[in-house]
Amino acid sequence: MNPLINQIYKNMSNLRFKALEFVQQRQPVTVTPPAGRVSDFYGINTFGTENMKSTLPKDTYKKLLACIEKGEKIDSSVADIIAASMKAWAISKGVTHYTHWFQPLTGTTAEKHDAFFEPTSDGRAIEAFKGSALIQQEPDASSFPNGGIRSTFEARGYTGWDPTSPAFVMDLGYGKTLCIPTIFVSYTGEALDYKAPLLRSIDALDKAATTVMQEYFDTDVTKVFCNLGPEQEYFLVDKALYLARPDLVMCGRTLFGQVSSRNQQLEDHYFGSIPPRVLAFMADSEFELLKLGIPVKTRHNEVAPSQFEVAPLYEEINLAVDHNALMMDVMEKVADKHHLKVLFHEKPFAGVNGSGKHNNWSMATNNGRNLLGPSSKPKDNLIFLTFCVNVVKAVHDNADLMRAAIASVGNEHRLGANEAPPAIFSVFLGSTLTSVFDELESNGKVKVDKGENMYMKLGISKIPQLILDNTDRNRTSPFAFTGNKFEFRAVGSSANNGHGMTVLNTIVADQLIKFREDVENESKKEAKKEIAIVNVLREYVKASKKIRFEGNGYSDEWVEEATKRGLKNIKTAPEALDAFLEKKAVKMFNDHGVLNETELHARHEIMLEVYTKRIQIESRSMYELAVNQVVPAALTYQTSLIENVKGQKEIGIDAKYSKATLDIIKAISEHVAVVISESEAMLEARKKANDIEDGKKKAVAYCHEIKGKYFEKIRYHVDKLEILVGDEHWPLPKYRELLFIK
Ligand code: ADP
Ligand code: MG
Repeated sequence: MNPLINQIYKNMSNLRFKALEFVQQRQPVTVTPPAGRVSDFYGINTFGTENMKSTLPKDTYKKLLACIEKGEKIDSSVADIIAASMKAWAISKGVTHYTHWFQPLTGTTAEKHDAFFEPTSDGRAIEAFKGSALIQQEPDASSFPNGGIRSTFEARGYTGWDPTSPAFVMDLGYGKTLCIPTIFVSYTGEALDYKAPLLRSIDALDKAATTVMQEYFDTDVTKVFCNLGPEQEYFLVDKALYLARPDLVMCGRTLFGQVSSRNQQLEDHYFGSIPPRVLAFMADSEFELLKLGIPVKTRHNEVAPSQFEVAPLYEEINLAVDHNALMMDVMEKVADKHHLKVLFHEKPFAGVNGSGKHNNWSMATNNGRNLLGPSSKPKDNLIFLTFCVNVVKAVHDNADLMRAAIASVGNEHRLGANEAPPAIFSVFLGSTLTSVFDELESNGKVKVDKGENMYMKLGISKIPQLILDNTDRNRTSPFAFTGNKFEFRAVGSSANNGHGMTVLNTIVADQLIKFREDVENESKKEAKKEIAIVNVLREYVKASKKIRFEGNGYSDEWVEEATKRGLKNIKTAPEALDAFLEKKAVKMFNDHGVLNETELHARHEIMLEVYTKRIQIESRSMYELAVNQVVPAALTYQTSLIENVKGQKEIGIDAKYSKATLDIIKAISEHVAVVISESEAMLEARKKANDIEDGKKKAVAYCHEIKGKYFEKIRYHVDKLEILVGDEHWPLPKYRELLFIK
């Protein structure tokens, strides 16, 4: 008999071995691809523009397009027609229910399903779906985090249709449901979700950037939008092993676990061949994602064992954010079919890399120009430099907000660990662009005589090919220029992408408005527009110099250097989140109509609340796991050692031979004693923290008095016990099992 199976039968009461037995028998699940080529099934589960065009009356379609492209309102009669054709399309696909699909501040997506059918007076039923149901619904806002925006007597919240993101059919799990992407606002109109502020920030940036383009560069530009390509990292573990780890089930991360002897030091996982079960999962989820019109293109192993990445092609930012949230949901559902569990947590395992979401972000015009793309024409490079320098200046001036935008309980474990961008915010440009910035900075006031090539004199005539060829990559920077886009790499893997992108869009919008003012002022002294622009950019380059860093962001030297430069290094979330309440931030979000003061305060309160609750859950789980599973296992094993020593004595074996065993017995007692006393002390600390009224102070207490004081300490002793206690007594799947059994 297989020795492992043998062991399992001996340990039927131990969940870990039962789980391992399941894992031993797993085979890749057979995946049936949808019929035809990708182009045949891409987007078949979305009610996209093509569908609308072919099913809607011409004038209705026109009105819808005007709404999508220009933000014009849709009246109720038009909504009725759209709803009718959406319903017909959905019913033809076997859909029975519809739901408004939204992204509340819980961090996951939310749905409330309603059936299409309505009973008629004569006892039959018809399938109904009116324009009003398409446009608006009323989920109970009191059941979602609202940060005090909603007093109980106005519990109503509204979801409102976002016509710019196509409705889709979710056909995973039981039945099929038509999902309509919506915003979620309170009775009084305040945003309760991630999408509403994102849409507002998109508008703000559009306005500011379009003005700059029209005034200085291209009068044909009527709209500037953002593109986003989010790379998503995640871990996969077998479902049975996952279920045997209460910490993974409750917290999404392991609270304990001795790092396995082999982890990622051989660097053999990154881009390695993909294990068959994982490949089956990837293919299966990609088919579902493609059917939903999500352009998944890239998949590969990541650095840590059992860590992977999926990346779609970039899309308009609102759509990309929806698609990222939807993708996470689909992946979880598909994984279940494969007896796998996806972990989106930023740091599920100690000692190996954590996961992030790398947001590739750029701005583009309605006439097809990437504003962050260098070109072969000097004139176009002035546009490129204008937007590039303004982004750097925006990040410099709002580094605290960028840090706040990525602050979360999960990301706290990852930032500044040895594999993720530090909590210090900086921008990486690459050597070519750095030299362009340097030249811009040093070339002083330029005087151009008639007939001279102005761009040559300004030093921006020949950037392009160099940058495009530049394969410089800095994987240690939180915010890096990568050829024709910026990559915001510090975002956590579990985050809703709308949040960070809202902050980025808003600070850039704000900066572009200041830029225009500065150019107007400069123009009073300098008649030539291009020179006035360059003069302003030069000042920006000088003013934002300290945020630029080209070196290794993981190194200790950088921490030192950053301190010298006066850059902040806020390691924990409750403190980082303060930036949202600074006067300057409140004013900026309000001025651009992205978040008013009430909304911003509510959001801040919710973020602290979520932070506190998550640590509270972790702390409770830790206590339970330690006292309930770890200690009993250790004591049972210890008892068997004691029996052994007694037995040896009984049969007359010299006591010196029992010394090593006695040492283990003693060590177990010591570790158990600390685990118990520290767990009890942590419980007391929690009681104290729970009495704190103030949200910030409470979060700080949970961060430093509970997590900071106890988590590592308890873990240390539990992990020591994991080594000491005989393998067959240990109840929790070990790292080597979670990470290496495929
Ligand atoms: P990497 O080398 O970092 O893996 P890739 O070229 O694979 O970069 O691109 C990663 C992501 O960036 C993809 O989602 C891709 O579509 C996106 N991307 C490429 N160009 C742009 C752009 N101009 N704006 C926004 N995202 C972009
Ligand atoms: Mg990348």
